Amino acid sequence: MLYKRSSALFDEAQKYIPGGVNSPVRAFKAVGGDPIFVKEAKGAYLYDEDGNKLIDFIASWGPMILGHAHEPVVNAVIEKAKKGTSFGMPTEIETDLAKLAVSMVPNIDKIRFVNSGTEACMSAVRLARGYTGKDKIIKFAGCYHGHSDSFLIQAGSGAVTFGSPNSPGVTQGTAKDTLLATYNDLSSVKALTDANRREIAAVIIEPVAGNMGCIIPDEDFMKGLRELCTKEGILLIFDEVMTGFRLGRGGAQQVLGIDADIVTFGKVIGGGLPVGAFASRNEIMDYLAPVGPVYQAGTLSGNPLAMSAGLAMLTELNNNPEIFRSLADKTAYLHKGFERVLKGKGIPYQINRFGSMISLHFTDKPVVDFASSAKGDNETFKKYFHGMLSQGIYLPPSAFESYFLNDALTYEDLDATITALETIIPQLQ
Ligand code: PMP
Repeated sequence: MLYKRSSALFDEAQKYIPGGVNSPVRAFKAVGGDPIFVKEAKGAYLYDEDGNKLIDFIASWGPMILGHAHEPVVNAVIEKAKKGTSFGMPTEIETDLAKLAVSMVPNIDKIRFVNSGTEACMSAVRLARGYTGKDKIIKFAGCYHGHSDSFLIQAGSGAVTFGSPNSPGVTQGTAKDTLLATYNDLSSVKALTDANRREIAAVIIEPVAGNMGCIIPDEDFMKGLRELCTKEGILLIFDEVMTGFRLGRGGAQQVLGIDADIVTFGKVIGGGLPVGAFASRNEIMDYLAPVGPVYQAGTLSGNPLAMSAGLAMLTELNNNPEIFRSLADKTAYLHKGFERVLKGKGIPYQINRFGSMISLHFTDKPVVDFASSAKGDNETFKKYFHGMLSQGIYLPPSAFESYFLNDALTYEDLDATITALETIIPQLQ
């Protein structure tokens, strides 16, 4: 495959946009080479600027769960756009989407719409702090909750009690209020709650992690986390930006059978337009302005185009919940196919899968947290990524990302993907 035009566009973009991209992982830094510029997409396929057709396994990092340019979503946006694109005044469709989301997701009475997952998580934490009157939060190493200051904290030796910023520009003052725990390790959380009694407002977690590859939560860990939070008066925030409306109608809460206190959303809820949301029970949501004292706002929040895309998307998922089963079946099929190809080839690997999230790690040890995910061999990953790309398969350009399957993928597409892996095996050995 040739990528001449993509490379030329990338050169031009770099003159005017830092690194040529508006979100870093798009730049292929982790895998090398120039990023591919997409021209259009339909269903499960991307068509790039050089005329290549690629099978898409990122689905815009989650939102396009029904495939690209899905007609009911596109039509809803077109019809809405003809009537005005933003008013800064309330519109009926905001309530329509809120009502539908609240009916689908357990434990939430009210929902507030924002413009991104970052905003959703940032606002959820502010609300938790306002509601509890406490300052500190616990997050897990390797979990990503957007690029707000409080979340750009990574694990490191000595970061057991106080986090340290991993991005310049995050002040020590902010970093000290973010405590780091280890995913799937309840004792690491317990150590923090013991050392910071009555100081912790919230624990925020990806209930199924997707930002260190896909990582499955241990059942006892999740149950224990819920119990610990309840016992200590800490709010449990489920960051369902990836899992919400993807793992099932009610998201991870429903699938795992664990109740969260605040839930955040993004991706699928906006049907491919910029939407985030956070939600909780009345008692907590009534702490938000204009009812309560915790301030949060947005010129474009509840934007009619975004709401119409979200409403069309959630309506379809709500009416056809078998989509979640179909997606999980397809993902299991891909998993089995990959296993069949990789077994006995002398390539250390682990495959993690939950619902329609899946990732392949080049390590022989189970991947259960950030440290074990980071043990994956990135040199092999690079060869794998570029090998698959050469076969027309578009995977996340980083080992620390989950794949997101979309329901437009056919079993023929999955067979082609498995065959592609078979073809490139010699390059990985
Ligand atoms: N939370 C999670 C779990 C995410 O995966 C992401 C983005 N990938 C975010 C929050 C941030 O969302 P956004 O990029 O829309 O700001």
